[in-house]
Amino acid sequence: MELLKKKILECGKALNSEVLLVDSFLNHQVDVELMNEIGKEFARLFKDEGITKVATIESSGIAPAAMAALHLGVPMVILKKAKSMILSDGVIQTEVFSFTKRTSYQLTLKGKFINKGDRVLLVDDFLAQGEAAFGGANIIKRAGGEVAGIGIVISKNFQPGMDRLRRAGYRVESLAQIAAMDENVVEFEGDNE
Ligand code: 5GP
Repeated sequence: MELLKKKILECGKALNSEVLLVDSFLNHQVDVELMNEIGKEFARLFKDEGITKVATIESSGIAPAAMAALHLGVPMVILKKAKSMILSDGVIQTEVFSFTKRTSYQLTLKGKFINKGDRVLLVDDFLAQGEAAFGGANIIKRAGGEVAGIGIVISKNFQPGMDRLRRAGYRVESLAQIAAMDENVVEFEGDNE
């Protein structure tokens, strides 16, 4: 998605060869017009998959997922990162190791929000090792839903997540695929073709 790649080049900052900072438009301050375009693009890519719900992981997946849900005309479900007192009944949990925080958290879903027969589009902001996406997919399936697709805003294709998910049989669409990066340099897949 050219608009997104342009934004990454203008406003993103590669901290090193592994971590990209996009807090001025995706992770902290949010460019809602860009999110709307991202939502439209996910809706276009997955329009024939019979999606009934969009699921995402709090908090940075919420903005793009909400827009995708809006354009697909379905509800959005937020997978929570901690089990709280008010989430105690009928919850499904799985442990996920966080790439950026270097610590584990419990991904949590109140089971009644995803049911047998649901075809779920899982949306997240980044794909790195694939831990968050596999955790989300695991919870969706345990709730009885089917993972109809995985929509990623930015994938770092030099890290293993993309290959791991595709090898596991998931349809993964990433709107900005980074082939390589280093301090202040970002190279997208296909840039050298
Ligand atoms: P994974 O589970 O695929 O290793 O990592 C995905 C999660 O880690 C995403 O939900 C995102 O929050 C975070 N993440 C991974 N890499 C980056 C990065 O380069 N920049 C930012 N801002 N977040 C990242």
